[in-house]
Amino acid sequence: MEKKQFQAESKRLLDIVINSVYTHREIFLRELISNSSDAIDKVYYKTLQDENLVFNKEDYYIKINIDKNNRKLIIEDTGIGMNDKDLENNLGVIARSGSLKFKKENQMKDEHDIIGQFGIGFYSAFLVANKVEVISKALGEDKAYRWLSEGVEGYTIEETTKEKVGTTIILELKENDEDENFDEYLDEYRLKSIIKRYSDFIRYPINMDITTKKLKEGSDNDFEDVLEEQTINSMVPIWRRNKNELTNEDYNNFYSEKHYGFDTPLTHIHAKVDGKVSYNSIMFIPENVPFDFYTKEYKKGLELYTNGVMIMEKCEQLLPDYFGFVKGIVDSQDLSLNISREILQHDRQLKFIAKNIKNKIKNELKSMLKNDREKYEKFYNSFGKQLKYGIYNDFGKDKDILKDLIMFYSSKEDKLVTLKEYVDAMKEDQKHIYYASGESNERIKKMPQAEVLLDKGYEILFFTDEVDEFAIRMLNDYEEKEFKSISSSDLDLEEDNIDQKDKEDNKKLFEEMKTFLTDKVKSVKASNRLKNHPVCLSNDGELSIEMEKILNTMPNNQNLKADKILEVNINHDVFKSLKDAYEKDNDKFKLYTDILYNQALLIEGLSINDPVEFTNNICKIMK
Ligand code: ADP
Repeated sequence: MEKKQFQAESKRLLDIVINSVYTHREIFLRELISNSSDAIDKVYYKTLQDENLVFNKEDYYIKINIDKNNRKLIIEDTGIGMNDKDLENNLGVIARSGSLKFKKENQMKDEHDIIGQFGIGFYSAFLVANKVEVISKALGEDKAYRWLSEGVEGYTIEETTKEKVGTTIILELKENDEDENFDEYLDEYRLKSIIKRYSDFIRYPINMDITTKKLKEGSDNDFEDVLEEQTINSMVPIWRRNKNELTNEDYNNFYSEKHYGFDTPLTHIHAKVDGKVSYNSIMFIPENVPFDFYTKEYKKGLELYTNGVMIMEKCEQLLPDYFGFVKGIVDSQDLSLNISREILQHDRQLKFIAKNIKNKIKNELKSMLKNDREKYEKFYNSFGKQLKYGIYNDFGKDKDILKDLIMFYSSKEDKLVTLKEYVDAMKEDQKHIYYASGESNERIKKMPQAEVLLDKGYEILFFTDEVDEFAIRMLNDYEEKEFKSISSSDLDLEEDNIDQKDKEDNKKLFEEMKTFLTDKVKSVKASNRLKNHPVCLSNDGELSIEMEKILNTMPNNQNLKADKILEVNINHDVFKSLKDAYEKDNDKFKLYTDILYNQALLIEGLSINDPVEFTNNICKIMK
């Protein structure tokens, strides 16, 4: 018989599984039972679509058998089964390749992390067994096959016989050593508790022969051990159970059983809705950003069940993009089983559920923000950016849902504030919500444009995500307070601290500067916002300097330019030199103008046109 090789990735994963000293080996049972349950689901789904097939509930089960003498644990199911090709394709190739990719990208130190955090499907059998045998007969086929592997070296597949359709997995347990005792997986009581713990809500019976003491026939005090088949799990799916019967641990177990994430979720939402459309749902808000969240591969969506049968693994329509991080399941008896993807798009029931769910998630986040600030900030640091995109998307369709959920760092303290908090704390004479855009909080703090506002004790919101300014433009105002960039040419402050006379005196000088700078700036003017800095740029019109930067990094950009104004601090010593040059030495005046303009660009984080000329100019004045 030919020995086949595992695919390279599988081999690596198997190697990790086999050699790990992982402490939660018990999860292998959860993984195998869940595969069995999926396999029965597949039969059920087939029978629902095919009138010629019937699904007799009694015929479908998962059975756990113990063979103590041979140290074997056997998991049998009556699911859809696999033929030789399936065995080769499904078991020779790693299914959850995401886990290895994640490990590579994040340089995980510890292989236990992958096992515990991702679940490793079928291969978890090798956590407890050194020899794994799979005997399977596929639905609608006569032949049965046997897959056998003793680890990384490979596997064999041969024909065999099997009466019933389904799959039997036989695990020959590893030898006990001084650290670990694998015999525990032959212990009825231990197995029962593992099943209860992880697989209680599996919809099909998980049966096991349990030893019970029974009175001997004809005797009233003489007991004997009898094996009696019992169903271990309660079979009620967790989402149909009552919230008050369930603990956080139950929800968290479900989260890992479903492989929703490798973290512990921040919170769950358990919804039972009866009415126009009825549904049950459990949703989770993860704590960490899924490793592929910001890649094209990431697919949002909730699992969709109707009447307990899964009809779609990721139903996108159930979640708006901005809540795309939510994981979970929806089960509704009001949906048709044979629903196709195209029909789903227009399904009224589904739309109703989606709307309802959107509200539930929003309310959960709102209450988290109100009642558990620390948790909310954790959430916000992971997924806040999504919410801001949500404000901007679809022409601001959902901006009112989201505006109270967004937060920004601000000039006040090093912590996040909501728009409501900002507005409530505004100074009496303050008309606008001021914000500053820049690369990082540190850089924004140093922006010369902020000086006068900070002096007045106004708080400034820090916009460091590309989407921030676009989102805020979509909002326009919050509680009737308009948003204003600290770089806008008109800060709309009460007083103007520049004398009319000064303005007149310097008018010509500024006009001359503007002539030198040609169309690089729209105008040059005396600043009433600068205190310690000689110059800065501000801007006029719709497009801000930050937006110019962002738009111009996009593919096929139109090279848009913000209308820039060069503001000069006429109370600064540098201005005296500038004025002196203006009066006495035109070349020098031109040189100073050029240097000051380029400095203003640099402060904004814009690149200067000719860096060599700029440095030469600096050298010139140093000489
Ligand atoms: P996953 O379940 O995430 O796909 P696994 O490694 O656990 O990954 O299983 C790989 C594939 O093998 C499954 O997708 C399924 O097609 C098949 N399989 C595993 N166990 C069974 C089973 N008991 N009955 C039928 N098919 C199975």
